[in-house]
Amino acid sequence: MFNLLTPALPVPAAATTALVCLEGVSKTYANGVQGLKEVDLTVNRGEFLWISGVSGSGKSTLLKLLYGAEKPTAGRVWVDRQPVATLRSHALANLRRRIGVVFQDYKLLPRRTVAENITFVLKALAYGRPEIRRRLWPTLKIVGLESKADCFPEQLSGGEQQRVAIARAVVHTPLLLLADEPTGNLDPTSTAMVLEILHQLHTVGVAIIITTHDQTLLDRTAHRIIHLEQGRVVS
Ligand code: ADP
Ligand code: MG
Repeated sequence: MFNLLTPALPVPAAATTALVCLEGVSKTYANGVQGLKEVDLTVNRGEFLWISGVSGSGKSTLLKLLYGAEKPTAGRVWVDRQPVATLRSHALANLRRRIGVVFQDYKLLPRRTVAENITFVLKALAYGRPEIRRRLWPTLKIVGLESKADCFPEQLSGGEQQRVAIARAVVHTPLLLLADEPTGNLDPTSTAMVLEILHQLHTVGVAIIITTHDQTLLDRTAHRIIHLEQGRVVS
């Protein structure tokens, strides 16, 4: 694969200044399906960006390339100056400490309390008890769930579970929060609450990249929107 005769490609300026830089990125899955096609994209530090598109248009694929869950089959991806696709596992783990991820289906640990779900990552990162407490309570406050710290996920509504998932994703103070259709399973009230929390995080400097297929959310935003169709950025 690696050809010593191929000169190294120059690194674009945005890769060293912007938070996210994609250059000519395509993703073809093993079964031949093209998830993304020749995507160029720059996302600035602290930006709030929507990625819209119908189901199957490549939204999740794009986010997966950003946190290194998938590798591009062509092109290059940088996040916080790191070439995501070519990082070794240790460097990738380091980069992931600067990223938080939220999914449509929350993905909480069912046998752990709210507090345990949120602090699990910190324990895995070998934070001490005082630091864990120092981070847990303000994070619970941001998502309005201080009174639910000892509840189990099944005792919470969908909206509350998603707020726990957001707390878990930001408790280690990431630079970038990736939210993949975070309101896809929520009623309008819970949706508004989740978006309010994301906006609050944005105002304290966290860059947010959020996907949706819901036009009503896009109609109400003042932030940048990119639109995917069959794996291509069309606007
Ligand atoms: P979206 O999140 O916008 O619904 P996805 O990024 O999940 O879109 O998928 C884009 C395309 O790639 C779809 O055609 C989907 O079926 C395909 N795809 C996604 N993941 C895989 C995979 N692991 N293997 C094969 N095809 C996949
Ligand atoms: Mg998806």
